[in-house]
Amino acid sequence: MNATNAQVIIVVGAGPAGMAVASSLAKAGHEVIVLNRDIKFGGLAEYGIFPAKLKLRGGLKKQYWDLLQQPNVHYFGNITIGNGNDLTVEDLRGLGAGAIVFSSGAQGTKSIGVEGDSAHGVFHAKDVVFHFNRLPGYGDRPFEMGKHVAIIGVGDVMVDISRWLINYKKVERVTAIARRGPVERKYNPKEIRSVCSNMDLDGIATEFLRIKDRLAAVGQNADDVRKGLTEEFTKCAPKVSDAKMGFQFLASPKRILADGHNQVRGLELEENKLEPKGDDTAAVGLKQYYEFPCDSVVFAVGDKVDPSLGLPYKNGVFVTNPNKTGNDPDDALFQAYDETTNQVIDGVFLAGWARKASEGLVGVAKRDGDWCAEVVSRYLATKVPANVTAVLDTLATLFKARKSDPVDVKGLHVLQSVEKQRQGETDCIGEFKYASTHEMLELVKKGKA
Ligand SMILES: Cc1cc2nc3c(=O)[nH]c(=O)nc-3n(C[C@H](O)[C@H](O)[C@H](O)COP(=O)(O)OP(=O)(O)OC[C@H]3O[C@@H](n4cnc5c(N)ncnc54)[C@H](O)[C@@H]3O)c2cc1C
Repeated sequence: MNATNAQVIIVVGAGPAGMAVASSLAKAGHEVIVLNRDIKFGGLAEYGIFPAKLKLRGGLKKQYWDLLQQPNVHYFGNITIGNGNDLTVEDLRGLGAGAIVFSSGAQGTKSIGVEGDSAHGVFHAKDVVFHFNRLPGYGDRPFEMGKHVAIIGVGDVMVDISRWLINYKKVERVTAIARRGPVERKYNPKEIRSVCSNMDLDGIATEFLRIKDRLAAVGQNADDVRKGLTEEFTKCAPKVSDAKMGFQFLASPKRILADGHNQVRGLELEENKLEPKGDDTAAVGLKQYYEFPCDSVVFAVGDKVDPSLGLPYKNGVFVTNPNKTGNDPDDALFQAYDETTNQVIDGVFLAGWARKASEGLVGVAKRDGDWCAEVVSRYLATKVPANVTAVLDTLATLFKARKSDPVDVKGLHVLQSVEKQRQGETDCIGEFKYASTHEMLELVKKGKA
């Protein structure tokens, strides 16, 4: 590709999906402009993945730095797209770029509508994860977690939060509450190693006794299932606290119980049974209720996208083209779609968790970004190239008019050099992280002066 047929693509969101889109299209010789809400790039690779996973995080960071050094990649952090934010979707569409990819992740909070969930001591997993990863706006706020924390959900996010509660907050007990049974647990067996030293094996045995008849009703042998679950408790990370971890299976939260100060004192749970559903099972409520004592509750049930971004939205996801194209990968899956006009939104695409909220690990988001880049390339093949200087000039004018404060790669370098000097200085888990956007912006200004 030469400079005359290079296209300009705007990528919104610099997480694993957006960075994969940017990398593929930049490699193909296009000009890529990355706009990111956070000052720092990486998305959940920076502010989601457990902070002590230094090898995984370091590897991703290196790849992303390499990408951002490319002369045809233009990065602007601290820029939020959405209604009432720095720029709107319409502003972006007016910039004259060939395509826009939204890879802004799943920023909305999924609620399961449990009565009483405004009590003190109720948290959403994303906020807790952002807190211990020190995302500005979350890292510097207190998260008082109590002594006995119930986490609703049995996926990897539940494990990460348990790890933080057990090893860093030193709570007394963590209980993972599962709608279905132990066979349907969702966490990766490798991940459970981070907390399995603290497993309350007697408590788990008692829980299996409690549910054994309901497991047998769907052909599951409680002893075999318990063996399968507990045999995964190998290569456990060293124990650093006396906290106990357990499970409550076949239980759906119905109500948060609060005391006179609106502080959580427990959960009302409904007993469930399992029913076969195709190759899987479904939880069916038995209308039998009981109180489960705890003083904090964390909902770790996945996330949804944030509708305030301004793209057509339905049932927790941005709407994509329902009409299959027959291409491989299917272009329709990545195209934003307006159901009021029954039209594809020309030149607007979705990738990663913005397309499929809370779906998979970094590798899955990266692959989604790679596929999206293929779809975008196909779309751009018939388009007249845009002039990157003109697009960047218009963007600069808009930033000025909106009083935005974008941070470019030079600014990121300033932050990185200060970070290196401050490693080990604070009580952060893993690496040093800034607590606030203000602190970062001040450093960038000083460093560039
Ligand atoms: C708690 C937790 C732990 C995890 N641990 C692991 C792990 O150990 N290993 C693993 O492989 N995977 C892990 N994952 C999964 C992995 O983080 C995701 O698969 C991946 O980050 C999704 O990538 P994404 O680019 O789609 O979204 P994100 O990573 O969420 O990135 C979205 C980006 O968009 C930006 N953005 C958001 N809104 C806007 C806006 N309005 N305007 C502009 N920019 C915006 C954000 O600043 C962010 O940079 C974990 C996920 C969670 C939640």
